Amino acid sequence: MIETPKNLTRNILLGLLFGFLVASFFYYSSFISEDLKSFVAQYIFNLGGDIFLNLLKLLVVPLVFFSLVSGISSLSDTSTLGPISLKTIGLYLLTTAIAVSTALLVGAIFQPGAGYAAAMPTSIESLPGGQSLYDTIVGIFPKNIFQAFVENQMLAIVFFSILFGIALNKTNHLTGNLSSAFEKLNTVFMQLVIMIMSFAPIGVFCLIGRFVITDGLDIFQDVFIYVALLISLLIFHALFTYSLFLKYLAKINPIAFFKKMKEPILFAFSTSSSAATIPVTLKTVSQDLGVDKNVASFVVPVGATINMDGTAIMQGLATVFIAQISGIDLTLFQYIQIVLLAVATSIGTAAVPSAGIITLVIILQQFNLPLEAIGIILAVDRVLDMIRTAVNISGDATVACIVARSENKLDEKAILQN
Ligand code: ASP
Repeated sequence: MIETPKNLTRNILLGLLFGFLVASFFYYSSFISEDLKSFVAQYIFNLGGDIFLNLLKLLVVPLVFFSLVSGISSLSDTSTLGPISLKTIGLYLLTTAIAVSTALLVGAIFQPGAGYAAAMPTSIESLPGGQSLYDTIVGIFPKNIFQAFVENQMLAIVFFSILFGIALNKTNHLTGNLSSAFEKLNTVFMQLVIMIMSFAPIGVFCLIGRFVITDGLDIFQDVFIYVALLISLLIFHALFTYSLFLKYLAKINPIAFFKKMKEPILFAFSTSSSAATIPVTLKTVSQDLGVDKNVASFVVPVGATINMDGTAIMQGLATVFIAQISGIDLTLFQYIQIVLLAVATSIGTAAVPSAGIITLVIILQQFNLPLEAIGIILAVDRVLDMIRTAVNISGDATVACIVARSENKLDEKAILQN
């Protein structure tokens, strides 16, 4: 097993804290010139943050490809793939539906938009539309694999890797055991993940810093109730709903699970991108949670792409909030429609920062709600995006454990180790 650098979690937390403190110092110190502030923002926080993000993203495509191909090509029985895919997708849809329903219920009870006093912005910069469900489904089947690789089309890459893995599996006796070469390449990429992870404390210092140095923290006042409710819902979903799933379906101790998940959670939090976090989630799920590598290498990248419970919670609550501040009463039938739409759009949401806000447009349009209202939540969305991305990837790992348990492919000893 490849070893993670010592004290990594502690150092990442220190990186977050220092990044926050240093950037707040620059943002709130009136004696520092604007020129110096923008220099620090650009050449320390932005530069360091972007380099770190690029390094993480650099690994996503080859890692997913090699781990899936090596996993599938070494399976003794490829017929288990069908049930694994069905269970994975079914569980992803179920957890997302639960997530958005809870958000709608809480939104209807607590009415976060009822006392909203600030004026509605008149216009926002035009936001691009999200991907429709149709496009998402067609996109699973790439017409050009190189284009899929270049454009990071995760579902297409997963699909091709599975096909390639099956073909490799069937021809291994003719190719001089070519699958073992993929196995070795996979090990090399895992090592690369660890090498890049060791820069995480500096990376998160820059990522948190660039957020604080541009926006400060005052932006939260206007929409305080929305923000507080959303954060509580996200925490509730992660700690309560997932814990139930983990305890009763995966039959593992939720506390042990979350202890092992510290690193991917911190990575998701600082990068706001489930896709950029795939390498770390994959490493944790297969090495620390004991999910069989074949299961993990399918469930994790697919989950990062289609499973976004945190995003669905935001979309549910934001829709209710915007309806309330616009004085529009939603009917029960509309609530049900929102659940279905949020499940569908969270599948089509790209696993990158702020993507959830873009697909929120689809839901608002459906109910003729004012798109300008997105401007109200846009300012605070960056920090909420960090939290919901952490929830998104925790959901992926939860489902990975459940699927592995149901297939008898969960190594229970792994989670008990320190
Ligand atoms: N940033 C989220 C993710 O990558 C997507 C979103 O909700 O904006 O998981």
